[in-house]
Order: sequence, then structure tokens, then C-alpha cells
Amino acid sequence: MQFPASFINNKALAGYFERDKKILPEHEKKDSVKMGIRDIIDELAAEGSITRRQVTRLLKECGAKDREYLASKAREVREKWYGKDVYIRGLIEFTSYCRNDCYYCGLRCSNEKAERYRLSERDTLGCCREGYALGFRTFVLQGGEDPFFGRDALSRLISSIKKNHPDCAVTLSFGEHPKEAYKEWFDAGADRYLLRHETANEIHYRFLHPEWQKLQDRKKCLWNLKEIGYQVGSGFMVGSPGQNINSLIDDLEFLEGLQPEMVGIGPFIPHRDTPFAGEDHGRSELTLMLLSIIRLMFPRVLLPATTALATISEDGRERGLLAGANVVMPNLSPVSVRGKYSLYDNKICTGEEAAEALSSLKKRLKGIGFNVVVARGDFKRN
Ligand code: SAH
Ligand code: SF4
Repeated sequence: MQFPASFINNKALAGYFERDKKILPEHEKKDSVKMGIRDIIDELAAEGSITRRQVTRLLKECGAKDREYLASKAREVREKWYGKDVYIRGLIEFTSYCRNDCYYCGLRCSNEKAERYRLSERDTLGCCREGYALGFRTFVLQGGEDPFFGRDALSRLISSIKKNHPDCAVTLSFGEHPKEAYKEWFDAGADRYLLRHETANEIHYRFLHPEWQKLQDRKKCLWNLKEIGYQVGSGFMVGSPGQNINSLIDDLEFLEGLQPEMVGIGPFIPHRDTPFAGEDHGRSELTLMLLSIIRLMFPRVLLPATTALATISEDGRERGLLAGANVVMPNLSPVSVRGKYSLYDNKICTGEEAAEALSSLKKRLKGIGFNVVVARGDFKRN
């Protein structure tokens, strides 16, 4: 992993370079061809490291019982750091305009059928007020890359949220921007930033995006965010067109280098008005295994059981938590716009108000032994 030169003396990254390697060269592990699957899982759980060949074997050879064993190890590690607590993040989808053209996404600029909206500052603050009363202490402002929200407009919005709710974290999930913009939003009070790298494999990235969207730019944004001091989240879709085991291992290796505080993964789900309309969706089993592997590689990471996972399987959130996740991100957007924020088909966007949805979620999670807590839920540094 090549680090930008500016990292060497950066205080926000103190201790960064001493962190363990997670994906080891083959010769540093026992002969993984002869090891049993359970031994590979045990070693990953004990040491947090794995080789490329071992990942390949896990993803190819685990049967249902092995997958449950892997999940049980991931649960143990999750419980060591976070107990049975589940952090909730209130997702506010504040704009559906996007200048980008990712082939997989329903909000891509060339989708003329997409219904576009942007929330007013008043509406967004209203969502936060409602969320706060329900116990949310993190608000995630997510949107397409909408030029309408320049540096100033978003800075103002962030400052207003922080002024109204000083005990809450603000997370941005707003795509790629110049470092100066990220810095201004950080100075306005934003605490965290979610920017999935989508795929760390150059050829795969080209397959998913038009020529002018560059993997190098996306990676550079992630390093800039780290350098500024954000808690950073990255991640990828599982089962996106063109993905294979090698590109998935590249993803894990990229995460190892980045050491994100949060990792978001969820199945790819086709959208009818995109070039990938006819593709199959990613599999739950593979997503769950990757959640467990990520938990074991990065024990303290904040790891959501995503809406996409809950979209392809009715008990997806529960299964995600049981595989090692510890975060859920219920929707706080106004019910009137939810159908328009259509990243993929059949995205859960019930007409339920946030309060009803949260209370039924809490009940369901309690039923499997988890407690939804009222807390910012920051990354545990030590
Ligand atoms: N525009 C911002 C944030 C909104 S999109 C960005 O791209 O970062 C948030 C995430 O939705 C993306 O990172 C992508 O991984 C996911 N997504 C988009 N289309 C999807 C699809 N068809 N299936 C599953 N996830 C999708
Ligand atoms: Fe825009 Fe994000 Fe969708 Fe890409 S994934 S088209 S950047 S909203």
C-alpha cells in the first residue's frame, strides 16, 4: 500500500502505520490447502489475518454449517467490543439529483425517468428534530452529487443541525468533492463521511462506471477525508456485475490499507432503468459471510446491516446483526419523497412513519437479544 507523502507527519493518523497487516502473503501462513475450513476460520478469529488463498477457500467451500460457525465467531468479536448494543443512524436522503452516471444506480444522471427532489433546510431540520425525539443521535445526510449543495449551503445545514443537536453526530454521504469542501464541512461540524470505494479493482471499476469517473479520484477522496480527521466509512456492493473473488479480495486488501472506522457492504440490486436492469442481485449468503470476515479482520469497525440486505431478504437486518454487524440505518426522510430516492428496485420505502418503523424494528431486534441504544456510537479508538 502506497501512502501519500503528506500522511507521514499527520497527527490524525498517529499510530496508523503500526497497524497489523490483515491479508498476509501465502508463505506467512501454514499451508492453507491442507487446512480444514474450520481451522481457517479459527485462525482468522484469533489473529484477524488471512491470506488470499484462504479467503478464496472460505468463499468457495463454506457450507451452511461452516457459515454459521463463521458468523458465531464474528458475533463473539462484536460482543467483545460492543456487547449486544445496536447503534441506529437516521438516514436523511436530502437530494436525488446527481451529476454522476454510475451504471448500477437509479439516480444516475442519464436516467431521465428518475424523479428528482431536494429537501429544503427546513425539511431536513424537521427530520432531525423528529429523529432526535425518537432517540437518534446520528444523522446521515445522503444524496446524489447535487451541485446545488455547494460548500456554503451544506456548511450552513451542518451548522444548523449541530446547533440544534450538539450531542449528535453528523455523517455525510455525498460523494466526491475537493479536499477544501470536505474541510469546510468538517469545520462546520460534520463528524463522519461514508464513501464506498465500490470496487478496488481497476478493470471492475471501469465496468461499473463511465470513463470520466475514476477509481483513483475516489480513493484520493477517501485519503483526504482521513487526513482531515473524519471517521471514514468505505465499502462495496456484493454481487455487482463483473465482480469475482479476486476483485472481492482486492476490496478487503484496500480496506486493510485504509483502516476505515466504518464499512458498508450490501448486495447489488438491479434498477429497471439502468444498463444493469437484467442482472441478478447479489446473494444474502455471500453478503453475510463477507460481513463476518470483515468483523473478524476489523474487530472494532462500525458495520451496518444495510437496507439493501433487508430488501432482498425479509429478515436481512436480523441476519446481518447475527453475522457480526452492529449498526442499522432506518429511514428518516419525509415519507413523501422516499419512493423517489430509488437507487435500486424494490428498495424498502414503506409508508410507515419513522416512529412506527423504529418501534417495530426495536421489537424485532429485542426478540433476537439485541438492544437499540440512544448513543452517538462513535468508533472505539482504544
Ligand atoms: N452519491 C453518493 C451517496 C449515495 S449512493 C455516493 O455514491 O457515494 C450510496 C450507495 O448506494 C453507493 O455507494 C452504492 O454502493 C449504493 N448503491 C447504488 N446503486 C445500488 C444498487 N443498484 N444496488 C445496491 N446498492 C447500490
Ligand atoms: Fe450518483 Fe451515488 Fe448513484 Fe453514483 S451511486 S449515480 S454518485 S447517487
